[in-house]
Order: sequence, then C-alpha cells, then structure tokens
Amino acid sequence: MNLGLSEEQSAVRRLARDFVEREITPHVVAWDRAEEVDRAIVKKLGAVGFLGLTVGEEYGGSGGDHLSYCLVTEELGRGDSSVRGIVSVSLGLVAKTIAAWGSEEQRRRWLPGLTSGELVGCFGLTEPGTGSDAGSLATRAVREGDSWVLNGTKMFITNGTWADVVLLFARSTDDPGHRGVSAFLVPADTPGLTRRTIHGKLGLRGQATAELVLEDVRVPASALLAPEGKGFSVAMSALAKGRMSVAAGCVGIAQAALDAAVGYAGEREQFGRPIAHHQLVQELISDIAVDVDAARLLTWRVADLIDRGEPFAVESSKAKLFASEAAVRAANNALQVFGGYGYIDEYPVGKLLRDARVMTLYEGTSQIQKLVIGRALTGVSAF
Ligand code: FAD
Repeated sequence: MNLGLSEEQSAVRRLARDFVEREITPHVVAWDRAEEVDRAIVKKLGAVGFLGLTVGEEYGGSGGDHLSYCLVTEELGRGDSSVRGIVSVSLGLVAKTIAAWGSEEQRRRWLPGLTSGELVGCFGLTEPGTGSDAGSLATRAVREGDSWVLNGTKMFITNGTWADVVLLFARSTDDPGHRGVSAFLVPADTPGLTRRTIHGKLGLRGQATAELVLEDVRVPASALLAPEGKGFSVAMSALAKGRMSVAAGCVGIAQAALDAAVGYAGEREQFGRPIAHHQLVQELISDIAVDVDAARLLTWRVADLIDRGEPFAVESSKAKLFASEAAVRAANNALQVFGGYGYIDEYPVGKLLRDARVMTLYEGTSQIQKLVIGRALTGVSAF
C-alpha cells in the first residue's frame, strides 16, 4: 500500500479543510447549543461534491476513490461530527447502497438529488426492540397487488426528520429459508409515515435523530430495493462500508483533540511555565498522537482494500472498533489537558468527547465488532 497521497487526494483534503474552516467551524458551538445544524449546509456539501464521492458522474456523483472519501470524512469529523454524520448516512449508507443495489430506474430517481444535496436520505434499520440483533426486526411488509404495505417503528434514525427518502428494512416473509428481510426506498412524505425528533442526546446534538412510525404506509412494488429477501445482505453491505466512514470520522475527532491539546499546552502556564513542559502532560498528548496514527492507518487500509476490489468487511470492523475507542480516549485525554476549561463548551474538547461516545455504539457496538472479528478468526459465530 502506498501511504502517500496523490496530488488529487491532497487537493481533495485541502478543499475539505477549507470548506470546514469556512462553512462549519464558525457555527459549531451555536449549532450544538441549538441542537440543530443549519440545513443549508447540505446543499453546500452537495455543491462542493462531498455528497457524491465514489458515486458515478452519470448519476450526479463526483466519482473519486474511497481514500478521498475517507479524507473528506476525516476533515468533516474534525470540524463537526454532526455534519460528518449527515454525509456518512445520506451518501455513505443511502446513496452508495442505491448505487450498488438499485435498479437503473431507482438510481436515476434518487441519486442526482442525494448527491447534489437537494434530497437527504436516512437509513431505517434499528427498532425499539432490535438494535444489535437487527436481523430480528419486526417491521412488516405485506404485498397487496402492486403495492407493499409497511407497518412498524424505527428508532434512533439519523437524518430522520430531514430525510426525503428512507432506506427501510422490513420483514416481508416468514420463509425459514432466508432471513426474510427486504429493503425498500420509501419517500418520507408517504401517508402513514410520521416522525418524532429525539431530543436530549449526549452528543451529535446538531443532528436530526428521529423515531419513525409506519402505519399502513403503502409504496409501489418498484420501491423494493434488490430482490425480496435480500434486505439483510443489503444492510450488512451498507454497514461494512459505513463502518469505514465512522472510523474516518473518529480519526477526525482524535486529530481535533490532538490539535486542541497541543495548542492549549503551549499557552496555559502552571508552576511558572507552559504545561507542555510537564512530562505527564506530554504523556497525555503523545497517547493521543499514537491513537490518531493507528486509527488513521487502519482506516486507510480499508479504503485501499475497497479500491483494489478485495474483501474488506472484517478490516472495516477492526478500524471502526479501534478508531471509535481511540476517539473517546483521545477526546478524554485532551479534556484532561484543558483541566476545568475542558469541561465548558467555550472550549472544543468537551463536545469532542460527547460526540465521540456514540461512535462505540452505532453501526454495531464495540462488542458486535469484536464478534464479527472473532467469527472471522475462529469460524464460530458467537452472536
Ligand atoms: P442493544 O443491542 O440493546 O445493546 C445493549 C448492550 O448489549 C450493548 O453494550 C451491546 O454491545 C450489548 N450486546 C448486545 N448483543 C450482544 C451480544 N450478542 N454479545 C455481547 N454484547 C451484546 N440505527 C439505524 O438503523 N439508523 C441510524 O441512522 C442510526 N443512527 C443512530 C444515531 C444515534 C445517535 C444512536 C444513539 C443510534 C443510532 N442508530 C441508528 C442505532 C444504533 O445502531 C443502535 O443503537 C446500536 O446498534 C445498538 O443497539 P441498541 O441501542 O438497541 O443496543
């Protein structure tokens, strides 16, 4: 693997860094306090091409490789994880999944809007009663003539109240021969679909996280994404790439923690000199730096494997597991460097820690990533 960046990749990273400094950084604290990112950011992300990375230009995408996608995701995560998550879901989990599994008609209908930021997508897998055990989901899809009728509840759905289209997973059959889950593309304004914002989150406060309730939601047969019964494979393939995106966002959090800790340690004086002169402060900083490098290298390896067309799902779990735990450690260490000032939101590190914490929970908890890795190593499924 070539660990250097090409000129194009370096340019994409610079573009992302400038975008974050101009469009995101000035608003981060206000959005976090208001519990809402300004929705105008979505079209800006689309205009600069960040919502179309790796998607073909014939569908409005901006092409590019997965390492470029990781570089942009890292920079967004460094700026504001709430914004990073909007992209990771609308592009990473929804648009890319439509590109990979959708019919030509579905691609043409949804991808230009999703990649330009005219439309937002959300990923409806988790339910109140099924999180880690997603295959046991209870939302039902019943075929009636040329339609599907959907009933059920989805929980913790990122972009839920903003979304124009829901990539929804529902049980369409009890056939014991397969898992019986199918994937559907449900326009969010379909009658019977209601959404409730979930407030009071520890982190990612700027993001619209919602509960979705489906009561006799009727969609045409053409809303089925991929063959009936393939929905669980669709979800798992989306999450395998999604975990790389979460990992890249975590690298961004850890890098932001490092930048903040180094800056503050050089300025804050105690015992007559900047705290950077104290060995135990250097220990905190160097621990963050090692976490940043290790998380980044694991994440880049996943991108490299995808771009070379090799299997990557287990490596993606490793990267997500390590990077999410590393982001929590890094943000916590940075908060320690800031002392009491780290505990108030005039300084960035408290938010980094709050935002980092969910990364060990969603798209598969750390325990679930370990079971994925353990299954690959032992051949035994211990779920
Ligand atoms: P549970 O599955 O109930 O787990 C509880 C605990 O038990 C965890 O520690 C878990 O690791 C452990 N556990 C469970 N099973 C095992 C096992 N077999 N072995 C060992 N330990 C186990 N979901 C979506 O579909 N779309 C989204 O866009 C989305 N966005 C989210 C945004 C936020 C802010 C949050 C908080 C969640 C989001 N989720 C989303 C849901 C998320 O993916 C789930 O919360 C996650 O999968 C865990 O499920 P759970 O919360 O039901 O926990």
